[in-house]
Amino acid sequence: MANIVAIVGRPNVGKSTLFNRLIEERKAIEDNLSGVTRDRHYGHAQWGGRFFSVIDTGGYVTGSDEIFEKEIRKQVRLAIEEASVILFVVDCLDGLTDLDTEFAKELRGTDKPLFMVANKADNLDKMLMANEFYALGLGEEKIFPISSASGSGIGDLLDEVIQKFPDEGEEDPDEGVPKLSILGRPNVGKSSFLNALIGKERSIVTDEAGTTRDAIHTRYQLYGKDYILTDTAGIRKKAKVKEDIEFYSVMRSLRTLEDSDVVIVMVDATRGLEAQDVNLISLAIKNNKGIMIMVNKWDLIEKDHKTMQTFKDDMTQKLGENKWIPIIFISALTKQRIFQAMELAMKVYENKHRKVPTSKLNERLLPEIEKYPPPANKGKYIKIKYITQLPTKNPVFAFFCNLPQYIKSPYTRFLENRLRENFDFEGVPVKITYKKK
Ligand code: GDP
Ligand code: GDP
Repeated sequence: MANIVAIVGRPNVGKSTLFNRLIEERKAIEDNLSGVTRDRHYGHAQWGGRFFSVIDTGGYVTGSDEIFEKEIRKQVRLAIEEASVILFVVDCLDGLTDLDTEFAKELRGTDKPLFMVANKADNLDKMLMANEFYALGLGEEKIFPISSASGSGIGDLLDEVIQKFPDEGEEDPDEGVPKLSILGRPNVGKSSFLNALIGKERSIVTDEAGTTRDAIHTRYQLYGKDYILTDTAGIRKKAKVKEDIEFYSVMRSLRTLEDSDVVIVMVDATRGLEAQDVNLISLAIKNNKGIMIMVNKWDLIEKDHKTMQTFKDDMTQKLGENKWIPIIFISALTKQRIFQAMELAMKVYENKHRKVPTSKLNERLLPEIEKYPPPANKGKYIKIKYITQLPTKNPVFAFFCNLPQYIKSPYTRFLENRLRENFDFEGVPVKITYKKK
């Protein structure tokens, strides 16, 4: 299960400074890999061997200078629903404010682990100021004075935060079973697709409601193979939240996305690929998920022999460098290609777990590299000596060379393209890293 830490609090208490501290180390690693898009409010972190995601909820609340009560309520409610742990940040310099009290009121009902974080406790005097926040009567026994600016106190906080994550050791009965999920805007046809695929079975008693939300994880079989399909279709209907803001789309999809192996992004053929779909796709890429696009309502499109290609070209253009994402055209209504779509998802799952033997990698790629070596930099000749796939969960390839720091991103793209031509990684983010040899 994904561990998600949400940072909440009024503006200017230092949420984004804290966020940046938490993801700092991981960011440095991610920056060394190709194909990673940055997000200022959402990222990955690690402490004491535990991995988690961090979301700066405040970063998504934009618009006016003033945060209205309604906004606070939304921000907090989503954090409570979606997060594993909540960090409620307050400011020692300003002391307790009315807006803090408003937040506290909203947070009081949660059964999620909540930490009171008193930021800007830069020195002992300021640390004492933190005591004022005991008046809010929130949090796990004590208040954590920290200084996001200097980093002090953050280690102590994280030591306790990671204690709240569920034990990893527990036996997962679904270990090794592909986890697929269907995400997409309201009304694209998620429910219809699931009903067409699974029929009445969908509502039978094996359905097991998620603990914190209404996504349903159900185990199915297709051609004798088991898979788990997460059905998020009911969420909107129940919550009645209009999911047209970046924050909501991110928060609502995050946990499902992080718990999936393959994310099927469903798009409405009559609307094409929209900004929110692209957001979802970049989030999936960032999380190293298998991805495919399923264009639904194909029955509504008037077609000739070129229509599908035109659609594909248009979408591929919007996807920029990510041309490796497969696109399939279906109709939940007429059931056109719905089983092929699931087969494609399973194929993406297989690709994601593909391990290419070192000998084969070198045999195929070294001649290509010899033909087009990395351009010399500052008069220095760059030589790639050998390549190996790292034993990671997602495909990462290490290229060993004399001057790794001199290789530029266009060449990395060249290598990625050669990798994809020679080995099937359709639907899978592929990462490249350089190591000195
Ligand atoms: P946010 O609106 O809650 O995300 O707050 P920011 O992270 O943007 O920080 C607001 C201001 O507080 C900025 O000017 C930061 O430099 C400052 N700040 C953040 N953390 C600290 C801290 O630990 N100590 C001090 N003295 N200032 C801080
Ligand atoms: P969800 O909100 O993503 O679960 O979308 P629904 O499954 O509730 O579908 C929204 C609307 O689109 C409903 O009126 C469906 O009948 C319609 N719809 C779904 N799939 C198709 C399709 O393939 N073709 C057509 N013409 N309509 C569809």
